[in-house]
Amino acid sequence: MKRSVSIWALGLFLFCFSFWAQSSSAQKVEEKPQVELLTDQNTTPTQFHRMMAEMKQARLKVLREMGIALPIKETLAQSHYDAKYYRLDLNLNDTTEIISGSIYMYAEALISGFNVVELNFFDNPQMYIDSVKSGGDLLYFTWSDNIIRIFLNGLYDHEPFDVIVYYHGHPLEGGLQSFDWGYHGSPSVPIICTLSEPYFAQAWWPCKDLPRDKADSVDINITVRSDLYVASNGLLREIVDNGSTKTYKWHEKYPITTYLVSIAATNYSMFSNWYHTLSGDSMEVKYYVYPERLSQAQSLYPITPSMIECYANLFGEYPFVEEKYGMAHFTWGGAMEHQTCTSISSSWYSEWVIAHELAHQWWGDYITCHNWHHIWLNEGFASYCEALWVEYNGGGSSGYHSYMNGMQFWGGGSIFIEDTTNAWNIFGTIVYDKGAWVLHMLRHIVGDSTFFAILRAYYSDSSLAYGVAQTEDFQNVCESVSGMDLDYFFQEWIYGTYYPKYQYSYMYEPVGGNLYDVFIHLDQIQTTDPTHFTMPVDIKITTSSMETTVVAFNDPRHEDFTVRVVSPVTSLNLDPDKWILRKTYSASYGINIVTTDLPSAPQFAPYAETLVVKGGTGPYRWEVESGNLPDGLELDSSTGIVSGIPTVLDSFDFTVKVTDLGSPTDTDTQQLFILVYESSFVRGDVNHDSVIDVGDVVYLINYLYEGGPEPVPWEAGDVNCDGTIDLSDVVYLINYLYREGPPPC
Ligand SMILES: [Zn+2]
Repeated sequence: MKRSVSIWALGLFLFCFSFWAQSSSAQKVEEKPQVELLTDQNTTPTQFHRMMAEMKQARLKVLREMGIALPIKETLAQSHYDAKYYRLDLNLNDTTEIISGSIYMYAEALISGFNVVELNFFDNPQMYIDSVKSGGDLLYFTWSDNIIRIFLNGLYDHEPFDVIVYYHGHPLEGGLQSFDWGYHGSPSVPIICTLSEPYFAQAWWPCKDLPRDKADSVDINITVRSDLYVASNGLLREIVDNGSTKTYKWHEKYPITTYLVSIAATNYSMFSNWYHTLSGDSMEVKYYVYPERLSQAQSLYPITPSMIECYANLFGEYPFVEEKYGMAHFTWGGAMEHQTCTSISSSWYSEWVIAHELAHQWWGDYITCHNWHHIWLNEGFASYCEALWVEYNGGGSSGYHSYMNGMQFWGGGSIFIEDTTNAWNIFGTIVYDKGAWVLHMLRHIVGDSTFFAILRAYYSDSSLAYGVAQTEDFQNVCESVSGMDLDYFFQEWIYGTYYPKYQYSYMYEPVGGNLYDVFIHLDQIQTTDPTHFTMPVDIKITTSSMETTVVAFNDPRHEDFTVRVVSPVTSLNLDPDKWILRKTYSASYGINIVTTDLPSAPQFAPYAETLVVKGGTGPYRWEVESGNLPDGLELDSSTGIVSGIPTVLDSFDFTVKVTDLGSPTDTDTQQLFILVYESSFVRGDVNHDSVIDVGDVVYLINYLYEGGPEPVPWEAGDVNCDGTIDLSDVVYLINYLYREGPPPC
């Protein structure tokens, strides 16, 4: 019932997108349809993330139909400078839907002889660059393929420089929204807002539009008609009253990337409450809401400081604590984590949306994905933080798990986004839901205290703070904090596709007293890539008198585990608490070789180990299917005993196969290895029974005169150390044993 409501709402929303797409080409003021979307707080996170993804894709389609190809890779000239600071001075005319003004950029040349600056800016036919200057001088520039090339007067050798671009026009919508002129309320009031992720800041302001080049600070000076209020990043320093217009001067003093610079302007009603920081200060949490939505906002938003407290306690202090956290209503049907000022739908009142966008302030804004390949470092983290909030806010472990279970993702593709030139790919549900599951699984692998130590270490890593990160940066933190090699984990889950399908079976038998051995067979039966996942898998065994959970570190596709328990088994569950994104299937127990490891063998010493098989119908027939046993050892085909005297030092890999007498016959194979190591020997202990006695004399005589076996090893028989074994050794040994002669040399 709830689901169908959601689908209906989504259909309506997509329809509206196409309507907007058609109407946006006409530059007239027209009331756009308002959509009441998902006021249902019970929408599952997966439904939410899927809708976010689909809405984003619908937007992108609009852009694609406009035939706009975006430069999303750093150009060579862009790699030659570092943007340090931007000042946006923009006038927004809601009647003409024209923005006009300038962007000032202060930057630093990273090479010698630098003189060409390249900025990203849509060469949209409705946008005009009036001039480009530096220090009052007009500069020559070109503008094509969405790049402004600016030729500086002079060469810069690792030196700072600045440019200012004057422009005006009607920004085209792109990406999820980019720049939007909307209306709300009755009578309707303009709402002018932005949403630039992933690379659509360049739709409305010229900049080096790459996540990894954060400006150290930004000034955002926005002029609107005097009855509108502008919300933006950082702190509001000044409101200048120009009569019919007002200029709002916002300053973001923390590093910020271009896609997080935002403005939202309308007749906001404002209210606030306070977050008490870890050090005992206070920070304002401010809400900019549509007046017609004030009472609803007042009923839910005040929970925000508790959420900030939750995340500050778990990860580290709110990163922008000397400014504010804000939420501002805007036109889009979702929400966007603009730094210190999340933009949020006026009709979407869900606690976990607030939690998600707030969590982005740590994961996304404070530490930003280096490029869009690693978007899961933003979205997976923020989605996971929804569950952490549920757990923290009274839901406990069961609330946490049921929330995570609502975010299971079963589709294909990798979390690492290969193709980011197609922006459709960037915001698939996979980066939200499966990305969150990566953290959930990691938590179980390393344990709770280590997991949160990892998140705190990631937060406080000075090379990442207020900067950018790639998956490998996070992996490094995980490995250094946990002391574990986690490469297998990140390879499988970030770069691999799908998930493991575990098929398990078990049997048990008494071993005396009230003890039982449980033989567990685990198969990975997925046909997707990776064909086998390396994961620690919880196995919960319940007997009539006890309950135990063992962790099977499962690596191969087929594996056997043996666990000893008290009392007969009543049930066995694989990963009962769902710590792995997986499917499980139970099966009946077949024939399985349960010997998984064989002891190493000392060279020249007698060796005998019995391979054990369970299930099937005996008697069994054994054989070495491939590889080689150590020289000197043999496998008995009827008993499964590996025995003999190994002679060659080496590691021997081999696969044994067992066949039963069932009808039809059943078989199992097992990969095994035996390491033959150099054994110490006692000279004179010719028969290698650990004592020197008459048995050794007999053994030696037997060897010398009756064709008996060699001493083990041969050197043990050279009792007098003269390099040969002959009668003198027999005499030497008898003298030692019975006539108080010297011991073997
Ligand atoms: Zn997000």
